[in-house]
Amino acid sequence: MLPTDTALVLFSGGQDSTTCLAWALKHYARVETIGFDYGQRHAVELTVRPQLLQSLRGQSADWNARLGEDHMIDLSLISAISQTAMTHDIAIETQANGLPNTFVPGRNLLFMTVAATVAYRRGLTVLVGGMCETDFSGYPDCRDDTMKALQVALNLGMDTRIKLETPLMWRDKKQTWELAQELGGQQLVDLIRSGTHTCYLGERGALHDWGYGCGTCPACALRARGYHQFVGAEV
Ligand code: ZN
Repeated sequence: MLPTDTALVLFSGGQDSTTCLAWALKHYARVETIGFDYGQRHAVELTVRPQLLQSLRGQSADWNARLGEDHMIDLSLISAISQTAMTHDIAIETQANGLPNTFVPGRNLLFMTVAATVAYRRGLTVLVGGMCETDFSGYPDCRDDTMKALQVALNLGMDTRIKLETPLMWRDKKQTWELAQELGGQQLVDLIRSGTHTCYLGERGALHDWGYGCGTCPACALRARGYHQFVGAEV
């Protein structure tokens, strides 16, 4: 990839998208961010976003110079048209099709499409997302084939050559922590540990060694397990 490429990072304020943002800041000359308010039950991640952006600017003068505008997009229509545990007050459980009801159908397709529209307007050539096929939940819109097909569809539909980059696609959570270490050393690991938010229940009371969260929801369990593997603790 050329250093002159410019990127738009899908940035939610979670561990994965923060690592992706650091990755983009390392690889691209200009980086902008986009976030979506889609009526999440717990909007904690939206409140940590601006603090994280500020902290990332403080990590390196180079990153500060590369980091540009943040775009916050209202996608509340998602909670109007779907019913999932992410947007409605219902318990997290597995559905008949084997997918957890935290899966918001079409969410990543919509996010990427909206991001492509913003990238088109801003003249940005790469979209970066934290989609990952290695995670246990098996969301079909996180799959590599889905992203590749979407890249083709978007470029055909807009007559562009936008590239979809998913640096976490084949990494597990332990390897995502390792990537953070590689990109920004212990300082970035510490920022991601205490500054990002992943918990499905929006719990932010206690700081565990792996970060804030309830410690029991699937997102917390995955994050904690990966962190403990990363630091070499017993799991
Ligand atoms: Zn949790």
